[in-house]
Amino acid sequence: MQLSERDRKLLWGRAASRCAHCQAELVVDATVSDRASIIGDEAHIISDSPGGPRGNRADRSDLSGYRNAILLCKVHHKMVDDQPNTYTTEVVRRMKMDHEAWVSASLTDSQRADAEEVASAVAGLERAEEDKRQHLLRSFGPSDWCVPPSANGPELIVRCAIALPGPVQLGPIPSQRGVITQLRAEAREDLIVAALNSAELTQQVRAMQSKWHWSGEGGWHALGGAGSLELTRLELDLRWLEQRIRQPVALTCAVLTGVTDDGSNLGEQCHGLVTVIDLALNVIELDAHRRPSQVAHRTTPAPAPAALTLAELADILSTLLTAPDVALTLSDRMLEDAPRDGHLAMWLMLNGVELERVVSLENLERLSGGLMVTRWEMHSAWPHPEPSNPTTARGFVAEFLEGLLEKADYRRFQGAVEEATGQSNHAPNE
Ligand SMILES: [Zn+2]
Repeated sequence: MQLSERDRKLLWGRAASRCAHCQAELVVDATVSDRASIIGDEAHIISDSPGGPRGNRADRSDLSGYRNAILLCKVHHKMVDDQPNTYTTEVVRRMKMDHEAWVSASLTDSQRADAEEVASAVAGLERAEEDKRQHLLRSFGPSDWCVPPSANGPELIVRCAIALPGPVQLGPIPSQRGVITQLRAEAREDLIVAALNSAELTQQVRAMQSKWHWSGEGGWHALGGAGSLELTRLELDLRWLEQRIRQPVALTCAVLTGVTDDGSNLGEQCHGLVTVIDLALNVIELDAHRRPSQVAHRTTPAPAPAALTLAELADILSTLLTAPDVALTLSDRMLEDAPRDGHLAMWLMLNGVELERVVSLENLERLSGGLMVTRWEMHSAWPHPEPSNPTTARGFVAEFLEGLLEKADYRRFQGAVEEATGQSNHAPNE
């Protein structure tokens, strides 16, 4: 959960870094070769989503601070969330108060001083992780779409960004390693194009031709002029038989290497390689058989001109989750001592239309007066989910869709999401 550094210190310090239910210690000391490990959770007392454990639509105030947080081990976090009727808001609040009272009554001064120290360290660790994530969000999130939103732009854009923070070799690298540097931009371009053309991601997009009927495809090519030495922008060349006002499907990629310090003091964490892949759909242009008479659709104010099914949206998201493979291939070839883990973020943006005008959600129940969603995001430490692992990729997609629908005030959508993600491209492996 999101906590300020001050709230985090309070929470961990007052709980002496222990589970409020079983008093188990939640920090495993660092070893000679590994840093300390945090094995507990900062749990919500009242869920910040109305459908979550002890969620409460009437009182949405202050659900993010120390007051609404409790420190629990993994076991007891699951327990209080699985049994919200037993572990009501009152019971969980009481659990926290009793535990904090126990800490101040039972621990010695030096034990409490140790706990304060651990709390500070935890806050620092968490903050460093949070800073990296925030930087990723800020730098490569929806404010910087490859396909700029416009009135005539695509209805739906999904972005997958992978950042592999790490050292970047800025000078020439010995040729026997075959590593491309900032000094050889054209060679770098060729390398990225080759990697994209052979990527699983591109194969999966090619498979969409049978559904969305483009007539031909000329592979990836770099878009000249728009980039810098560090930035390469590319697009997949899709061709259509008819002249169209708007391209129905667009796939673009931006690869950034050796990001320099941007003055925010976070530049160090951003060195490395960032791969951003956008898939934009003009749903209205996709397919004639999706036009109004064939699309039975409960939307306001008017029927959607066309619609994706939830399963199609899940397929698109799953397809983009093969993008980390591209990032890893590129980092292996472009960076010395390529980092193996980074951050994965995925955003979905609907351009000025309601979710249900683009995605067919006719059988789902929605609370009246719900929010209008135009953006939804989710992120994860990477390589989790591992893109080559269909189960974790599909789990990520399912979680993503559930978050989206919950934010849009739908309810009882789990079955639909399960069905939609079960029909994803990865299903045959299960
Ligand atoms: Zn516990």
